[in-house]
Amino acid sequence: MAQSGKRGTFEHPLVDTHAHLDEVQDVGAALERSRAAGVAVVVAVGSDFGSNQKALELAQEFPRGVYPALGLHPGQMGEMGRDGVQRTLEQIEASLPGAVALGEVGLDYHKRVRASADKEWQQAVLRRLLELARRHDKPALVHSRYAWADALALALQSGLDKAVFHWFTGPSSVLRAVIEAGYYISATPAVEYHEEHRRAVSRVPLERLLLETDSPVSYAQANSPERYQAQPADVARVLRAVATLRGLPEDAVAWETTANACRLFGLQPLGSSQG
Ligand SMILES: [Zn+2]
Repeated sequence: MAQSGKRGTFEHPLVDTHAHLDEVQDVGAALERSRAAGVAVVVAVGSDFGSNQKALELAQEFPRGVYPALGLHPGQMGEMGRDGVQRTLEQIEASLPGAVALGEVGLDYHKRVRASADKEWQQAVLRRLLELARRHDKPALVHSRYAWADALALALQSGLDKAVFHWFTGPSSVLRAVIEAGYYISATPAVEYHEEHRRAVSRVPLERLLLETDSPVSYAQANSPERYQAQPADVARVLRAVATLRGLPEDAVAWETTANACRLFGLQPLGSSQG
């Protein structure tokens, strides 16, 4: 992978470990901007049949820059219906060997989500998904809003040894159990301002931390009423916020989080000396 020289205060290429590239406009241009910002690799996550298909296509179109993850988001289940969920489970089962991860999957206990997909159905589907990840030895990228303890319990019950609790905002007790299980959490741009997320990111061991943007989600900004829509280049912004929060040089955080991503997703090491 071609690497340019020093970027800002860090030299190691970054990985956006969670982006909904299927929803990003002009992916080619977004990837060019991300490379210029030092982000060498983007994991394109899917949420349903169509976005999984798109993640696989984008990985073909941008080899070594985009890697696919296949998922079934709890927030999409109501719209998908039983047949759509079944069709997507079959798609994931067939295509997971060619993906770097299962995700985005998980539980979402927000009442709006539960109104269209109750807890029991969400849990039953997540159990089947985690079983697929375990069988294919893929890490799971887990959404766990208001369902942190249940999502962790299902991951542990599945026997899966690799999981990422994406954008973790849960209580410290669950964070400790996530770390004890050998799992990871990922930091998003909300690390600039969201108290629970900041607390988790400040406490997790660095060897269990990943960076991501959840693009194209929109985020608040300190000292401004304006929100902005994230793109993969904003991993550099997450890096800066994490380094400041932890009182570490950006370079150290870049090196460690990229090494974590390479280990977890089975990517070639992205050392800055590579040609
Ligand atoms: Zn997401």
